[in-house]
Amino acid sequence: MCTEAEALESQYDGYVVEADEFIREVKSELRRDSLIYAVNKKKKVGETCICAGPLCRKQFTKKSYQQAFHRTKCKDQFWNRVRFWQDETKVQMLVEHIDELNHGSEFDGM
Ligand SMILES: [Zn+2]
Repeated sequence: MCTEAEALESQYDGYVVEADEFIREVKSELRRDSLIYAVNKKKKVGETCICAGPLCRKQFTKKSYQQAFHRTKCKDQFWNRVRFWQDETKVQMLVEHIDELNHGSEFDGM
């Protein structure tokens, strides 16, 4: 089961885009999240942060030295995403899945 692919699929539901363009877009999102993460890590306890969770951006007050996310769910989603995009096999599977979504239907019912 590939939850990252499913999450992306629902996020971009009905939005047909070529795989390489799609991946560029997600990777730039990931870079933005990582940047926010790095900023949050440098902030002091009591300072206002923006959550580094994918598509979250909720404001929160930093309560502990380690905190970079407004809740554990965002932290899990962030790290799941990082791990997913570091795994070339999974990324390749996603590319094939997108190609199938974009082009597979052309051959249906013919
Ligand atoms: Zn969050």
